[in-house]
Amino acid sequence: MKAKICDTTLRDGEQAAGVVFTFSERQKILEMMAKSGVDQAEVGIPAMGEDEVKELRKLAQLNYPIVLSTWNRAVREDLNKAYQTGIKRAHVSIPTSPVQMKAKLGMNPRQVEERIRRAVAYGQEKDMIISVGLEDASRAHQDFLIYLMKKLVGDGVQRFRYADTVSLLNPVTTSQRMERIIQSLPGDVEVEIHCHNDFGLATANTLAAMSAGVHWASTTIMGLGERAGNAALEEVVMAWRHLYQGEDRIDVSFLQPLASLVSKASGRKLSEAKPIVGSMVFSHESGIHVDGLIKNPKTYQSFDPGEIGRKHQFVPGRHSGFSTIVYLLQQEGIEIDSTKREELMKRVRSRALRQKRALHIPEVKEIAQKMLQSRG
Ligand SMILES: [Zn+2]
Repeated sequence: MKAKICDTTLRDGEQAAGVVFTFSERQKILEMMAKSGVDQAEVGIPAMGEDEVKELRKLAQLNYPIVLSTWNRAVREDLNKAYQTGIKRAHVSIPTSPVQMKAKLGMNPRQVEERIRRAVAYGQEKDMIISVGLEDASRAHQDFLIYLMKKLVGDGVQRFRYADTVSLLNPVTTSQRMERIIQSLPGDVEVEIHCHNDFGLATANTLAAMSAGVHWASTTIMGLGERAGNAALEEVVMAWRHLYQGEDRIDVSFLQPLASLVSKASGRKLSEAKPIVGSMVFSHESGIHVDGLIKNPKTYQSFDPGEIGRKHQFVPGRHSGFSTIVYLLQQEGIEIDSTKREELMKRVRSRALRQKRALHIPEVKEIAQKMLQSRG
């Protein structure tokens, strides 16, 4: 099944506490996102003010080969500003859970229905393509959501976003709810899933929804977003391909460069162990693992890192075996025979312990050279 990606790094990602992108950073991220084949980018919130409207208009004028959309509340002022950006697609979000309808809008469900339908009609009058975001949908009455969506489909809305705003879904509930929604709507209406990661389930829930038939996955690069973040683009795409045999348009060789770019621009460090894009996720120290990988890479890999332009790295350290060290030294043109096994391993391990880290290849080379010299 083919899935489409709507990436919101430039909107929900930037909403992460303390994150600010300059215009040139936004431009670079958007440009690379377009090259990578992301289908759609949610680029910002016009209601933030005149400066934001200007920047969004400039981004739109770059004409990168990617569909753009703005994020708006269901009010006329927001849609007026969205219109000024020249971006044709306006996403309009409306609270749908009892707690949010009451606290944020002071409204009952009927009033909420009226407000969103009016906003949709207003946007359509301005000739914009309006999609509707069901905010806090996971805490809404599901019957109300389906009722609302059907009304809006009647008004010409062709796309909905189901937002698990505070992370209350699990893969099973996601799957059940998405199946019901998809069955309730006409076949040409598209549904998008938007998950947050408060329990570390954003990627799993997004995949469950995709597998249940939703058409769009809402992601952010490296999962950047509110609180614990969103579903990470790189995890969703790679798991979709490898665990669900799904299809998408992404050129995955861009996943790593995108994560580095967003990490730098956001000031958020990319954890070494972050799936797919972390610096150490293809590094191996354990002697048993490295030995297996040298014999056949498939022994300890779920997918070939070459697929995303990366490769396995062998790190010499306290857990390394003799064959790893021999292999690494051979790459450096140094031959060590097995009579030196014990001495070499003792020196490598004691140095790793002393330094409390893995060794760099030149350090192992130095140890080996010293040893070879001392023995003549
Ligand atoms: Zn969100």
